[in-house]
Amino acid sequence: MKKIIFIILCIVIGVTGCSKKLEINEESLEENNVDIGTVQEEKEDEEIIIKKYENIEPKEWGEDLKLVTNYINTENKEIALTLDACGGKNGSDYDKELIDFLEEEKIPATLFINYRWIEANKDIFMRLAGSDNFKIENHGYGHKPLSVNKNSIYNIEGTSNVEEVIKEIKLNEEQIYKLTEGKTKYFRSGTAYYDDVAIQIAKELGYKIAGFSINGDGGATYSKEEVINEVSKAKAGDIIICHFNQPNGYTFEGLSQALIKLREEGYTFVKLED
Ligand SMILES: [Zn+2]
Repeated sequence: MKKIIFIILCIVIGVTGCSKKLEINEESLEENNVDIGTVQEEKEDEEIIIKKYENIEPKEWGEDLKLVTNYINTENKEIALTLDACGGKNGSDYDKELIDFLEEEKIPATLFINYRWIEANKDIFMRLAGSDNFKIENHGYGHKPLSVNKNSIYNIEGTSNVEEVIKEIKLNEEQIYKLTEGKTKYFRSGTAYYDDVAIQIAKELGYKIAGFSINGDGGATYSKEEVINEVSKAKAGDIIICHFNQPNGYTFEGLSQALIKLREEGYTFVKLED
């Protein structure tokens, strides 16, 4: 079922190419108060990572590999809600109703935001980043499956080598840091597919990979009833994935009802912890 959902998700969202180079532009760094020494060190670290992994063949490919975090560690009736904004041609809208609802009800969420969505929604992004109700995390630069050898899924080609894996993660990290001074700690790729080498690279860059155990809205394609059914299955420790970039779907309608119901059953909601 997850597969079908992601096929639809990928068709809905679409993917654009990843052509921007990881070049250090010292002038723009100075303008943005970025320490050139730090950037130089990071660049050297990236070269070490490229050398370390460039000749390693991946052995696994999927959504549910080792080192993917699908559950939170908790003794309490806690659930982590995560919401993606995928960006791109059909993925850069904003579900204001859903975000307003979560803030009014004080239901926290971790937001996985793509570079292209930030570009299209700068003011909204800044407001969300300033809200205590939300935590901003990294949903990639080109919304690609994370691969070191162009492995594809649902006809979407993944990143093609170690350097592109680093770009997919770092270009969005740098954008978020520049705007908020916050360092992202979790990464979720477009399609949520990875190979085992790409996951190791993400780990070297300081990331945990955010998976999920409850697919709440099927890439915002589910009906209201389907969202309610899926989200209502959540138990302590589950990570729910939904989307806040598809206001024309039924995510808000279903999710709002299901979250209230879970809260009445004694569950509380948490952000992903560092
Ligand atoms: Zn996405």
